[in-house]
Amino acid sequence: MNNSVQSRTRRVANETFTVEVRRDGRLRKTVRWSLHDRRVVVRAPSFMDDAAIDKVLDEDIIPRIVKQRRRAQRQNDDELQARAEYLNCTYFGGELRWHTIRWVGNMRKRLGSFTSGGATDGDIRISDRMKRWPAYVVDYVIAHEMVHRLYPNHSAEFWLYLDRYILTERARGFIEGVAFAAGEDPEEWL
Ligand SMILES: [Zn+2]
Repeated sequence: MNNSVQSRTRRVANETFTVEVRRDGRLRKTVRWSLHDRRVVVRAPSFMDDAAIDKVLDEDIIPRIVKQRRRAQRQNDDELQARAEYLNCTYFGGELRWHTIRWVGNMRKRLGSFTSGGATDGDIRISDRMKRWPAYVVDYVIAHEMVHRLYPNHSAEFWLYLDRYILTERARGFIEGVAFAAGEDPEEWL
């Protein structure tokens, strides 16, 4: 089995994707892939030759990613984007990365979400039921989701890093109060 990693690049519109192709002898039929910023990691069965991999890449994977990213960019909310950039610069030294951020009306419990690994990698969704909530609470939720890029779980490191946003404790208290009044578990909200 050949374990070497091959790389390719694909340029579509104004975005350049780097593609890493790894052979995976456990795969029997077709490729598996994931997206991380603009890096596509493809695992391909050992029997697939380069031409077959390129065909899947150019006819399926890249078009699917580009389509999803264009859709997310169309839905990007300028005001949320500006707030996310402000928070990133002010509290996190510009260290955080995301692709788009938008309000959504279809999250029943969660206040925010950050997708990772698929075609919508890096897209942040913020629940529109917070539209009338204090700005510092919405900022906390934005910061919370952005920090998940670095720390996917609610680990000690996650909370330590998120504490750089100075109103974290106060915002968590607000959310706990709203959840308590609604008879819900705030742990299920974020
Ligand atoms: Zn979280």
